[in-house]
Amino acid sequence: MITENKELKKLNTLGLKAKARWYAQPADVTSIKSLLSDTRFKGMQILVTGSGSNLLYSKDFNGLLIRPDITSITVTGEDENSVYLRAGAGINWDTFVAYCVDRGWGGVENLSHIPGCVGASPVQNIGAYGSEVADTVVCVEFIDLETYTDHSISKDECRFGYRDSIFKRELKSKTIITYVTFCLSKFPVINANYSDVATELSGVKNPGLYDVRKAIIDIRKRKLPDPEVIGNAGSFFKNPVVPENIAISLQNENPTLKIFPAPSGFSKIPAAWLIEQCGYKGKRFGNVGVHPNQALVLVAYEGATGEELINLANSIKNSVFDKFKIEIEPEVNIV
Ligand SMILES: Cc1cc2nc3c(=O)[nH]c(=O)nc-3n(C[C@H](O)[C@H](O)[C@H](O)COP(=O)(O)OP(=O)(O)OC[C@H]3O[C@@H](n4cnc5c(N)ncnc54)[C@H](O)[C@@H]3O)c2cc1C
Repeated sequence: MITENKELKKLNTLGLKAKARWYAQPADVTSIKSLLSDTRFKGMQILVTGSGSNLLYSKDFNGLLIRPDITSITVTGEDENSVYLRAGAGINWDTFVAYCVDRGWGGVENLSHIPGCVGASPVQNIGAYGSEVADTVVCVEFIDLETYTDHSISKDECRFGYRDSIFKRELKSKTIITYVTFCLSKFPVINANYSDVATELSGVKNPGLYDVRKAIIDIRKRKLPDPEVIGNAGSFFKNPVVPENIAISLQNENPTLKIFPAPSGFSKIPAAWLIEQCGYKGKRFGNVGVHPNQALVLVAYEGATGEELINLANSIKNSVFDKFKIEIEPEVNIV
């Protein structure tokens, strides 16, 4: 069904009020293609969404908003050690993780409880607790929004990076991801190296997939605000990656700062620490603010507008730059 002037408040976890000129939830590739070739939408801007957990609507969207609702999971191959699963873009991400864990297939358990849909998972290469979706992706299928043709690209072609992929670069706004194929392990190797996870599991002897999933869900529930209770989009900014010598000299000046390794002579600095040092943690500005327990999470109180959030994000970004000469970039997609 195609809806006109669709209210988006319940379709974005920030809970911002905005409308889409047109909205549709096609359930298969054929329906997506017939929607795209519908003359009503010719030349119109198209935006694809899943659960809206990484989207900030700054204003009404005057185009066609498509939420692919493909929900099948198929085993496409298997060998002694691995199983290959082709999952539809519309499946809730955590439902997919639970599906894998229930069958004893490892690889995505550390990504438990991340909001969103399977189709969005490769876009920013979702990651948490020492894992990224790139660790298990085999290929991503999509429809090209210019030619309406089907394509499949391999994991290497996705050019995954930290919260990054080709879908945020050359293919930004040019595709509708329809399916993602994953390779899961039949002999999972538990990754409990992340300190919070190790602590949570300290009383568990030989933890398995269920234990890791439960530990991570428990940690996330404690640490992150529930969008059902207070509007948010998880981490608003990416952790900046800076040359290692800059990170080390900042750490020497600030012994409480923890830095993390990044590839080829770079280090990752927690954006939350930078924001906290600038005095924003727990502060409210009108209808928006910075969460009291997690400085990386900007929150939208009832009545907040996208513009208020963008203003707050800009003043945080400027303060961090003025104090540390480090640029922080939003992780959230601003529409
Ligand atoms: C409380 C909370 C905690 C979070 N924790 C984490 C975390 O630990 N790690 C992490 O990486 N992220 C985290 N996030 C961010 C978010 O969950 C992920 O970015 C998620 O993948 C977004 O999925 P979505 O379906 O909601 O995508 P949306 O927000 O709807 O869209 C996100 C982007 O992907 C594009 N997109 C969506 N679906 C498709 C598709 N089928 N084809 C093409 N493009 C598409 C959109 O156009 C947009 O640019 C968190 C968010 C919240 C609210």
